[in-house]
Amino acid sequence: MNKYYQNNKEKVKRQVRNWRIKNLEKYRQLNRAQHEKRMFNGKKQIVLERDNFTCQSCGMNNQQHIVIFGYGLIVHHIDGNGKNSEIPNNNINNLLTLCHTCHTSHHSKQLMGNKNPNHRNFRGKK
Ligand SMILES: [Zn+2]
Ligand SMILES: [Zn+2]
Repeated sequence: MNKYYQNNKEKVKRQVRNWRIKNLEKYRQLNRAQHEKRMFNGKKQIVLERDNFTCQSCGMNNQQHIVIFGYGLIVHHIDGNGKNSEIPNNNINNLLTLCHTCHTSHHSKQLMGNKNPNHRNFRGKK
């Protein structure tokens, strides 16, 4: 009796854990899709193709980027109306393909210069 309960308890725990993992993954995928939609309005792929899947600052290609950073090249909003903006400027002329390194230095430069008030909160509140 006691043993049966113990076995079952483990089984239930395992099921709950699996359910959580499955849903978390689903939630993450959904979140990513929504994020892409809001951030780039479907323009990300167009910009990557326009820029030949290459960082426009140092020339690193997408394949190298995946190997080094574990994900593809970043599409950057030139005017800063992206990440922390309610209405991102998704005009393809405002979007630029960059690698992680160039993107980071781009933003830290902007932060130091503080030219764009929209960038004050970059890496700030989540
Ligand atoms: Zn680069
Ligand atoms: Zn950026």
